[in-house]
Amino acid sequence: MQKIAILYDASQAVLSTFDLDEVLQQILMIARDYFHLQNVAILMLDKETQELHVRSQIGWDDGNDKVRLPIGAGLTGVAAKQKRPIYAPDVSQDARYVTSTRTTRSELAVPLMVREEVVGVLDCQSENLDHFDKDTIDLLTLFSTQASMALQNARLYSLERHRASQLEAINAIAQQMTAVLGLKELLSKVCLLIQETFHVSHVFVLLKEEEDLVLRAHYGNLTPRFPEGGRLPAGVGLWGRALATGMPLIENDASHASDYIAFYVETGARMCIPLVSFGQTLGVLVLDSAQAGAFNDQDTQPLESVADIFATAIQNAHYVERVKQLAYLDGLTGIFNRRFFELRIAEEIERAKRFEAGMAVIMVDIDQFKRLNDEFGHLLGDEVLRQVSSLFHQQLRKFDVVCRYGGEEFAILLAQTNPQHALAVAEKLRRLVESWQFPGVPRPVTISAGVATYPEHGSTRDELVKASDAGLYAAKQAGRNRVTLAPDPQRSTAQAAGR
Ligand code: GH3
Ligand code: MG
Ligand code: MG
Repeated sequence: MQKIAILYDASQAVLSTFDLDEVLQQILMIARDYFHLQNVAILMLDKETQELHVRSQIGWDDGNDKVRLPIGAGLTGVAAKQKRPIYAPDVSQDARYVTSTRTTRSELAVPLMVREEVVGVLDCQSENLDHFDKDTIDLLTLFSTQASMALQNARLYSLERHRASQLEAINAIAQQMTAVLGLKELLSKVCLLIQETFHVSHVFVLLKEEEDLVLRAHYGNLTPRFPEGGRLPAGVGLWGRALATGMPLIENDASHASDYIAFYVETGARMCIPLVSFGQTLGVLVLDSAQAGAFNDQDTQPLESVADIFATAIQNAHYVERVKQLAYLDGLTGIFNRRFFELRIAEEIERAKRFEAGMAVIMVDIDQFKRLNDEFGHLLGDEVLRQVSSLFHQQLRKFDVVCRYGGEEFAILLAQTNPQHALAVAEKLRRLVESWQFPGVPRPVTISAGVATYPEHGSTRDELVKASDAGLYAAKQAGRNRVTLAPDPQRSTAQAAGR
């Protein structure tokens, strides 16, 4: 009768809640009260380290419940190893005994099994010598199955809950990703989302560019040592290995790894997931944690799902960027087109205003181009346009902008410049073209140019374009093959008013 009562109580405890600690405490209390025990505990087996640690206990001396017992050590360790109850009727005579409470005289350790596998140990101790008879041992063994069940249920439940919340997170990240088309915005946003969702210290993205990896975005709390935009060879470090195998890799003791690359001061553990879209490796997603040992293999699965969606989004952003670029390039010459000029001139004027710097517009037109076409044919005319474009492109600074404005006209934007410098640049281009030997054209080709600058000739797109056009017109009027600064707007207004 007592047997049925105790098993019933234990099963009720297991069913009462999903909170593992609560269930275990209830089970321990039942065991202690029914069997008149001085202290009871449930130890769990850590699969990785193969150590037992106390998950829940009643009556242990302070501090003793912090122990970690390797399998095979102590009565509990032996029970876990041999997968059967181990009994010491007099602990003082048993070399395997490890003290948890000084007054203990006898101890029974019962393994907690799920199928064939040991998941923990139920440990029962009494102040009496030989407290446990055979019936009690049998009953406690039966009773222990309830504790095993509680452990198993709680584990499944938390696993399910964990999976459900991860699925939700992946879904949320995926939705936000597809809403972003620009590459830069996409990368920063995903770093932030992953950092927040997966609770790691820092997240960063390395993208493959030629044979290098480039740090394109990062987000988190660690102190950077490597600059955004910084490059390194693709083959080195943990990510080098991850890229080579195409598999996620974890380094839980980062600073001691022989190929560790310190991007952040405090990194203790690192996880790398290759970004692959349709068989093409785009780069690697990296998660750093300040804590060594922070990652385990189960973490990689949801992150791989995120990385797959992420890689596709990066690929899409690349396409969008490419299409955008094509829309701004001139088909014949490969330099920017007029649409790009209109976009950039507004930006350049804004920037000049903000930094109180100057900027210039140079309008260039090839002289007598109609005649050149007539004399040598349209195809050669095209070739001259390409070569002139290429000469301009090579001569200017990286942040200057050369556009084909239309036909045989070019518009050039010079950032941070004054009238004298802009004139000098235009003059350099004029002389270069004049002296250039264009294959198939047995005489010099020349250009005329008009130069207008902000703030001297205007402060809007229309004013500056109009002024540089006026400069170009003046150059043509004066006989071509020359550079002319736009007329002073005050003088032209005065002239117009005086007329
Ligand atoms: P000016 O010195 O006054 O500028 O004389 P121009 O002959 O260069 O000026 P105009 O505007 O009368 O003629 C421009 C010519 O450029 C007309 C057109 O046939 C030619 N052209 C425009 N686009 C292209 C092109 O894409 N390829 C070729 N080959 N010729 C072009
Ligand atoms: Mg023209
Ligand atoms: Mg012309």
